[in-house]
Amino acid sequence: MLPADGHVHSQFSWDAPAGDMHATCARAVEIGLPALAFTEHVDLTRWNLHGQPLPERYRGQVDAHGAFLGNPLEVQAYLDEVERCRHDFPGLRIWSGLELSEPHWHPAAVADLVSATGAERLVGSVHALPDLHPDAAQGEHVETGNGYLQRPPVEVVRAYLAEVTALAASDAPFAVLAHVDYPLRTWPASAGPVPWDALEDDVRTALSALAASGRALELNTRRPLEGRVLRWWREAGGDAVAFGSDAHHPDALAHGFRDAAALAGACGFRPGATPFALWGRA
Ligand SMILES: [Zn+2]
Ligand SMILES: [Zn+2]
Repeated sequence: MLPADGHVHSQFSWDAPAGDMHATCARAVEIGLPALAFTEHVDLTRWNLHGQPLPERYRGQVDAHGAFLGNPLEVQAYLDEVERCRHDFPGLRIWSGLELSEPHWHPAAVADLVSATGAERLVGSVHALPDLHPDAAQGEHVETGNGYLQRPPVEVVRAYLAEVTALAASDAPFAVLAHVDYPLRTWPASAGPVPWDALEDDVRTALSALAASGRALELNTRRPLEGRVLRWWREAGGDAVAFGSDAHHPDALAHGFRDAAALAGACGFRPGATPFALWGRA
């Protein structure tokens, strides 16, 4: 049986205009997925653009200083659609959820949203890095992919992992760390292979902080997770693993899950007792 997909976006996420909650549930039934969580984006950190174009799919506002913020979640419409899907797909376990972007920087607003939604799966992520542009003020940010315009590639990953470490050490309300390898989605081909030896200490530091917090590591299948990262997670004392496709349209649901489950099994993790249980140590 496929693991639950604990990280799925629908039309209620500002960067998922092709998202469709109802069609995603139909797709889950079609492929035999037992459970899924709609973890819609909660982004509260503005990204300075410095003239970089926005992807076509983004829905949000650019302020007078040229900083972008995705549209807020429409809480009631989202919850209504979750209820409609639960009614129409009674055999499927559907969780509400949120993907909280840098929740440790926005504690009050995050607490309000978590309370307003009653979200069942809370995923914590980092998407932003400090903006090093000479025009930027202290405390301003760029999206991680644009960080490659400001730092050497390995330093982008290091800065990202440092913020993941801070997030993991915080008391922000989330159970699963999303996509620890997020900067590698935009790793420049011109930089050659990812220098894992140079990054190992930074990765292990982030994983140790996460393990000490008692939270789970996500195998985000947008990009296959390096096996060594999952082995380091186990060595750091990490004892829980979640799976997330990070799908932004129905066809991407549970993408790559068979390979990810095989990797988790090979690294010493096994399914929990119920579809939504995190995988634990074998
Ligand atoms: Zn994310
Ligand atoms: Zn996501």
